[in-house]
Amino acid sequence: MPNVIVSRHPLILHKLTKLRSADTNPKKFRELVREIAGLLAYEATADLAIYPIDVQTPLAVAKGAELLEKIGLVPILRAGLGMVEGVWELMPTAEVWHIGLYRDEKTLRPVQYYNKLPIEPRVSVCLILDPMLATGGSAVATVDILKNWGVKKIKFVGLIGAPEGIENLSSHHPDVPIHLAAVDERLNERGYILPGLGDAGDRQFGTG
Ligand code: URA
Repeated sequence: MPNVIVSRHPLILHKLTKLRSADTNPKKFRELVREIAGLLAYEATADLAIYPIDVQTPLAVAKGAELLEKIGLVPILRAGLGMVEGVWELMPTAEVWHIGLYRDEKTLRPVQYYNKLPIEPRVSVCLILDPMLATGGSAVATVDILKNWGVKKIKFVGLIGAPEGIENLSSHHPDVPIHLAAVDERLNERGYILPGLGDAGDRQFGTG
């Protein structure tokens, strides 16, 4: 699959299995979402640009590196919210820009209800955070928004993808790498991923 990176990391696979379980309660579910998001973001940022910098240790000068790029985290409300903390722990100076999209239950198309992006982007690379890449409608719409905003480097970080969502996102935006913990079988008639994990928002927020 072009531009789709599915992690094979044992920690991710172990945690994802617990996440899928119908027996996992919301507190544990949130913990797992946060942890898996951090691990996936670690893999997704392996190619970030750095520049060399010297650092004075207590004993001598050592060669070091600093991140060149300013990172933006873009959680898609509301299910993407639970991924933020895990990623932010790794890159605490990242800016977080929320995008609110809901899925029209009849058309399954995304409808935007929140977007407070400033006129000019202050970040050069954005990680879109959304646990479930189902139809891909929200992901495509969010990449459209970020590209119109002027961001050149965009990556999608999700937990589980359906073939339909991957196809939709990669055909509209072939330049956007898609980082996932798993690719599942298909969507059901209501646009849920099978076998998936159910509704990622409801399971995090206890609203199911
Ligand atoms: N959103 C979810 O939370 N779960 C799915 O399976 C699909 C979309």
